[in-house]
Amino acid sequence: MAKFYDLAILGGGPGGYVAAIRAAQLGLSACLIEMAVPGGVCLNWGCIPSKSVIHQASQFRALAEMEAVGVGVDRRGLDYGRVQARSREAADTLARGVAALLKKNNVDVVMARGTLRGRGGIALSGGQADGSTIEAKTIIVATGSRPLRVPGFAIDEKVVLSSTGALSLEVLPASMAILGAGAVGCEFAFVMNAFGVRVTLLEVAPHILPAEDHEVAAVLEASLRRSGIDVRTNTRALGLREGGAEAIVDIETAGKPASVRAEKILAAFGRTPNTDGIGLDAAGVAVDPAGRILTDAPPGRTNVPGLYAVGDVTTTPALAHVASKEGEIAVEHIAGRPVGAGLDPDLVPSAVYCEPQVVGFGLREDEARRESVRYAASVFPTAAPARAWPSAGPRASSRSWRPPTPARSWAPTSSGRTRRSSFTNCCSPRPPS
Ligand SMILES: Cc1cc2nc3c(=O)[nH]c(=O)nc-3n(C[C@H](O)[C@H](O)[C@H](O)COP(=O)(O)OP(=O)(O)OC[C@H]3O[C@@H](n4cnc5c(N)ncnc54)[C@H](O)[C@@H]3O)c2cc1C
Repeated sequence: MAKFYDLAILGGGPGGYVAAIRAAQLGLSACLIEMAVPGGVCLNWGCIPSKSVIHQASQFRALAEMEAVGVGVDRRGLDYGRVQARSREAADTLARGVAALLKKNNVDVVMARGTLRGRGGIALSGGQADGSTIEAKTIIVATGSRPLRVPGFAIDEKVVLSSTGALSLEVLPASMAILGAGAVGCEFAFVMNAFGVRVTLLEVAPHILPAEDHEVAAVLEASLRRSGIDVRTNTRALGLREGGAEAIVDIETAGKPASVRAEKILAAFGRTPNTDGIGLDAAGVAVDPAGRILTDAPPGRTNVPGLYAVGDVTTTPALAHVASKEGEIAVEHIAGRPVGAGLDPDLVPSAVYCEPQVVGFGLREDEARRESVRYAASVFPTAAPARAWPSAGPRASSRSWRPPTPARSWAPTSSGRTRRSSFTNCCSPRPPS
């Protein structure tokens, strides 16, 4: 017999588990269906493990700076397997924490794959619940996303890696070619380079971090280049070939063909929503051409009554804090509470955790210009504040790291649109090791 709940949530990532806990807090009976591990991509294969390896990479890089004060550190003893183990430990600990929170809040967690079936129904497959059904007054779809697969770049997690494969490496390759210089591509470029891997970073757009302010992205690009990363913008990856111990990426830069050889390839083209095979068609849920669920955020209702969607499956920015906030808002609405204006996409911060770090929110300057928003721009050199000196010492003033226009912020002078600020972290300029 089917079990009945006020709310069933499909997917236990930051969108799903936050929604489930909030529902329980508001007195709703809630069931969370998760086919892998509670915590989703963010805790298990995204934000948390990547930030762990980034932190360790920064520390490893900083060791080289100690030589300037007479401390010689032999960095050859690096055991990347242990770097990896630490990253897994961080992810596993937090995922266990999420499981404990769900239990404490009396959320029923069902470990199975769920598929929407009829109105308010979810069919379960796999695990102990195999073959059973959940019925609920309301359903939230929070099935997240997976690495985008591009024809010609088949991910085998051996030579051609996704971010998940890169976060599973136990041994460092000698070289890596990274296809795509968005946040994930840049963060892995930083990590691999810091640990001594020869890195080529390929980006089809004219600059890295295509979603960020161009001038701020240029600061990071210059820093990555100085660290020894071969950054190639305006470069399209055309295909892959076997080349003995290395793979060969055929590329085209501004119309000129060339190739890049690397032991490992990281396909960081972006993410695609997990909306296929979960019964959306049968339920009549409207999606956009990329397969993302269309919602009326807030509160995140789909076109099907009683069915909501939050997080990476929707058209809003694919970020963990967005997923969580959307989950919370949807549940408040389901519980009959006021949700107000909801989430303002112009005020969603995004961050790229390289050195220097890049943060942005709101409209970019080029977008403001395109939308005829009147704005005032201000530019501040990150080398200027006194705080930069203790961290960077004389390098804070050296031309080699001082960016041309490193920090920008602007505010519209007339219009309802919010302002955007975009800047690099002034206090962590580090030299190439
Ligand atoms: C390498 C990397 C680094 C990142 N770093 C950051 C960062 O620093 N900051 C940030 O904000 N964001 C970051 N992100 C993005 C962030 O991970 C996602 O935006 C976030 O995880 C989305 O949450 P979600 O709940 O929508 O989906 P997910 O986290 O993808 O969770 C969806 C869950 O649903 C489950 N599921 C899917 N289908 C079914 C089904 N049919 N039945 C049952 N369960 C199902 C999955 O197993 C998964 O656990 C990063 C992503 C990656 C890949």
